[in-house]
Amino acid sequence: MPEQTRSVTFKNVSKVYAGGAKAVDQVSLEVAAGSFVALVGASGSGKSTLLKTVNRLIEPSAGEVLIGGEPVHGEAPHLLRRRIGYVFQNIGLFPHMNVGENIAIGLRLAGERDAAARVAELLALVELAPELAARMPDALSGGQRQRVGVARALACRPGLLLMDEPFGALDPVTRDGLGKAIRALHARMGLTTILVTHDMAEALLLADRVLVMAAGRIVADGAPHELLSGKAGPAADALIAVPREQARRLAELET
Ligand code: ADP
Ligand code: MG
Repeated sequence: MPEQTRSVTFKNVSKVYAGGAKAVDQVSLEVAAGSFVALVGASGSGKSTLLKTVNRLIEPSAGEVLIGGEPVHGEAPHLLRRRIGYVFQNIGLFPHMNVGENIAIGLRLAGERDAAARVAELLALVELAPELAARMPDALSGGQRQRVGVARALACRPGLLLMDEPFGALDPVTRDGLGKAIRALHARMGLTTILVTHDMAEALLLADRVLVMAAGRIVADGAPHELLSGKAGPAADALIAVPREQARRLAELET
């Protein structure tokens, strides 16, 4: 059975790195169960740090994170992470293991003996051919590798999916296809999804809600139509101006 879909709550979360500035500065917000939220902002604004407080790759300096109302620090990190899918840019597939073994790694750790059927199911889920199970990661395209990463993240049927610039290294066409595939998986599996991206157009097109982060704080928060209508404030407006101008110029070229 899939893990139940749960909300994510940040309560006054701050993170100060040793010898560094405040990477995350008093963030409080609730991500509703079942929603698809994009976290957008310039490089260094604190997106990855905030995301990693959810699966405890980073412990906040102050405040707390709750999943479904339960504090994440109440559970051992390895058990917590089994319930949370995590996909990041250079997905970190083990180079000496084939695709099937990479996908099954979480299942093995969870004590599942016969993962072959589940691996086939997961490959189908991310729209990869079943025979890819026997391939080594270095014989895959970038887009295929990211799909394997998504399959691995979903192997233990998490209710929550965290993605940190998962499409960062991909060409625009592959990126668009994978974005749509993730959105479909989100709906089909009833996930709560948090997607970190620096691409405002991608955020607006994929998410139900867009959070804008700057210097460790959430400076805008709204549904895509709210951001586009200019109601979310100057920080959001500045990020939207770029894709909007590009869309305008393309439309102009067409006429
Ligand atoms: P983003 O994901 O938005 O690019 P990060 O969360 O990676 O931002 O980083 C936020 C800030 O924290 C940056 O100023 C970055 O240099 C700093 N930072 C990130 N990780 C560390 C670390 N391990 N040690 C010290 N400073 C860090
Ligand atoms: Mg980052």
